[in-house]
Amino acid sequence: MKRRTLLTALLGFCALPRRSLASATGGRVVVVGGGWGGLSAARHLRALAPQLDVILIDRRAEFWSQPLSNRWLVGLARGDWLRHDYRRAAQHFGYRFVNAEVGGIDLQSRQVATSAGSFGYDWLVLAPGIREDFSAWYGVDRDAAAYTRRHFPSAFPAGAEHLALKAKLEAFQGGDLVMTVPPLPYRCPPAPYERAGLIAWWLKTRNIKGRLVILDPNLPMLSFDRIFRESYRDQVTYQPQAQVRSVDPYQRRIVTDFDTIDFADAVLMPPQQAADLAWDGGLIGRNTDGRPSGWAACDPSTLAVPGDERVFLVGDVIDKVSPLFGQYPKTGQLAAALGRIAATQIAARAAGTAAPKQLPDSTCYVVNRPEPKELTRIETAYRWRGDDVIQQTVRQQHVPQAVEEDLDWARRQFAELFGTTG
Ligand SMILES: Cc1cc2nc3c(=O)[nH]c(=O)nc-3n(C[C@H](O)[C@H](O)[C@H](O)COP(=O)(O)OP(=O)(O)OC[C@H]3O[C@@H](n4cnc5c(N)ncnc54)[C@H](O)[C@@H]3O)c2cc1C
Repeated sequence: MKRRTLLTALLGFCALPRRSLASATGGRVVVVGGGWGGLSAARHLRALAPQLDVILIDRRAEFWSQPLSNRWLVGLARGDWLRHDYRRAAQHFGYRFVNAEVGGIDLQSRQVATSAGSFGYDWLVLAPGIREDFSAWYGVDRDAAAYTRRHFPSAFPAGAEHLALKAKLEAFQGGDLVMTVPPLPYRCPPAPYERAGLIAWWLKTRNIKGRLVILDPNLPMLSFDRIFRESYRDQVTYQPQAQVRSVDPYQRRIVTDFDTIDFADAVLMPPQQAADLAWDGGLIGRNTDGRPSGWAACDPSTLAVPGDERVFLVGDVIDKVSPLFGQYPKTGQLAAALGRIAATQIAARAAGTAAPKQLPDSTCYVVNRPEPKELTRIETAYRWRGDDVIQQTVRQQHVPQAVEEDLDWARRQFAELFGTTG
């Protein structure tokens, strides 16, 4: 595998001073990405290996949660449930938070180049999440991608795009609102359908004469197909197995295998891949045909990148881990569990001991209908088979007349990541 170092390519970052390059006495861990995976790795490192200096770096000044965000978009969740303070979390657990853009990683000299200087590491946790692959629609036309992000944000990257999408929904007067679902694999598979159901509820309860047209390249999501037909017949047109052939964001036109759709407004979710840093670092895996898989390869039992026992991958960025089911589901709780596993691996190496073999698990709540509140709980568990292949069990349960189970879950997760109690 060819690994590029970006330090030389990114002169803007190189011009900045190097920050405390010498490692702390016990060694230093740099965690890149303060999402669910990185936050969990940082707090568990402090607990498992207090002698290590831990630095968490993220380009965002505050954390913004994807879980609960669909509800917040339609006024069913408070903003302060979603937004959390990085600095307070860092203070609570005893690591350092640096608000900076990471421009490159030099795996040979173990340096992370950022807009706030360069940081040396003994171990590196990479948890940068995903990027959206607009090249599938626009080739090398970056203007079309930027225009789409600005005018038709997917809000799959958390933060500013959420505010833009909420403002869009509040201003929507009617007509066809198109939503494209990304092809699998993508972050949180039920999320687009949950969002669609909530937008349909929003249109219905506000008597907006609009229709949500869902263009889904994947097989039909049966539970939601039923809900769309039962509850939102006048609000939703659901088209499963509809491949997007071309998008003209300026003329507001999408062509699929079967149809040409002119839209009044849109939520455009293109295909997804591992975040830029994984590509820039040469960490992307290969499919059996030898082509890049789009996701970062790691050893499924340790999360270390192949050939570098000092770099660990965590969260949505990760490629296949099993020939039986492929990738782990890209959920926040699973990313947090992987963060804890990476921390365990590093703590053991720092102590010169063997790390226990661990696997993640995940529970995910999806809002089927807000009134009366109806949820689906998806529990995913893993175990090693005798031949060291990872096996997955998925249990999906319908929760009619749900009360606060999902909010209790979120409170527990935020307490774990931020030390909050509310
Ligand atoms: C609408 C929606 C609803 C969801 N609901 C749920 C749910 O109910 N339950 C659940 O478990 N999961 C849910 N998810 C999935 C969950 O949000 C993701 O799986 C989770 O965020 C993945 O965590 P991560 O740490 O891998 O990546 P992220 O959370 O995306 O974190 C990556 C971080 O890296 C930072 N970063 C990237 N590159 C750089 C750089 N170069 N320099 C500096 N910083 C950088 C980013 O700013 C970001 O903060 C949902 C997702 C969506 C889109």
